[in-house]
Amino acid sequence: MMEVFLSLAWVLASVLFISSLRGLSNQETARRGNSYGIVGMCVAVAAVIFGEKVSSQHLPVLIPAMVVGAALGTTLAKRVAMTAMPELVAILHSFVGLAAVLVGWAAYLDVDQSAGSHALLYGEIWTDVFIGSLTFTGSIVAFLKLRGTLSGRPLLLPARHLLNVLSVLACVVLSLSFIWQTGLDRTLALAVMTGIAGLLGLHLVAAIGGADMPVVVSMLNSYSGWTASAAGFMLENDLLIITGALVGSSGAILSYIMCRAMNRSIWSVIFGGFGGEAPAPSSTASAPVGEVLATTIEELANELMSAKKVIIVPGYGMAVARAQHAVRQLADLLRERGATARFAIHPVAGRLPGHMNVLLAEASVPYDVVLEMDEINDDFPSTDVVLVIGANDIVNPSAQTDPASPIAGMPVLEVWKARRVVVLKRSRASGYAGVDNPLFYHEATRMLFADARDGMEKLVAKLK
Ligand code: NDP
Repeated sequence: MMEVFLSLAWVLASVLFISSLRGLSNQETARRGNSYGIVGMCVAVAAVIFGEKVSSQHLPVLIPAMVVGAALGTTLAKRVAMTAMPELVAILHSFVGLAAVLVGWAAYLDVDQSAGSHALLYGEIWTDVFIGSLTFTGSIVAFLKLRGTLSGRPLLLPARHLLNVLSVLACVVLSLSFIWQTGLDRTLALAVMTGIAGLLGLHLVAAIGGADMPVVVSMLNSYSGWTASAAGFMLENDLLIITGALVGSSGAILSYIMCRAMNRSIWSVIFGGFGGEAPAPSSTASAPVGEVLATTIEELANELMSAKKVIIVPGYGMAVARAQHAVRQLADLLRERGATARFAIHPVAGRLPGHMNVLLAEASVPYDVVLEMDEINDDFPSTDVVLVIGANDIVNPSAQTDPASPIAGMPVLEVWKARRVVVLKRSRASGYAGVDNPLFYHEATRMLFADARDGMEKLVAKLK
């Protein structure tokens, strides 16, 4: 009877996780998707606690561990700023990696070695510990780079690809000793492999520049999923296999989408900086050049009063300044006056996939005026005023015009095609990619030098 209930719980949790991913793929259903995920996780945890592998003697350890873990998780998630979310995700992935290593070792120490061959189980343990160790150290380096504790510069050791290949080969050779007990002692083989995989994780992520770190975090998310899946095979836990595969594949798809939006090669992320050498110096990759024309809140307010079509392009600066509520008020005011005011969202605006969508949803901006880059890029030529708020790289025309630019080939929002572009930021400083932006010197552009929130609040007050 208990077994039937457990199987039903596994199926229910799996369906809830799949529904959660489906819900999270659209901002209108994201909240519901998140709730499905929470309920699914509660069902899964309850099924484990009431399952046959946990007895009452485990509870005095299990319950306090869960309470402490849940309290820590809740506190961290409540405190973290939106802009620091990639760091939190990176450190959480390191926990998944560490857990996989510990579970793998525990499963190995639990094996009754005198009772026949366990080649399949040893293979599963090896895979679990290998990916887990790599994920653990790789995630720690990603966390430190994102925090700025470690330099964002890629560590490009000579013959680094050879080092990576040799490390993988050494792990494969050690797997023979471990699985079929040839040569080295089994425990020693597993210990050496754990160390080599850890060093490989360190090296792979250290070789990637800080600019690509969020993609790496998403890739490590994928690795942590595959580790969980391997652990599922090892522990004969179907739910862990399914959940791990869901996390693994969705993380891989997200990494691919981010790489495409940033014009990076997914292979350079997987193979740690492979092909990631710095491009040749570019004419625009240096200090700012050219004359900029500044504007004022009064002038901008006047232009907006006479505009029929307005597009707002939010970027990282809007997130840092927490200007989204004032931005929503501006869009409401423009619509009340009969103008169209829509938002253009670049796939990598901000520092997280969907960063701008989350902020605009938090400020209750209606979903139907929030458009993706491909949906709105053709509308700029017929737009009266484009207001760029704290965005830089995602509106940089040199991505299309300068093949030597570090962002060459990255799809961008073609805001310079509008009749007037107003860029609201604090200075002429470059953005995340560190390149100058010829948009600032374009004849249609005016710069409004201000903090995004302060500037937007003053603009809203003026328009009112
Ligand atoms: P950028 O980092 O290119 O530019 C942000 C601009 O905001 C800066 O130039 C800065 O200029 C301005 N800014 C900062 N603080 C404020 C403030 N308080 N008020 C007003 N302006 C401010 O951001 P974008 O969103 O344009 O582009 C995102 C970049 O991040 C891309 O290069 C993308 O590849 C990268 N990235 C994005 C990821 C994602 O998943 N979204 C992942 C990894 C990387 P100033 O200092 O002069 O004010």
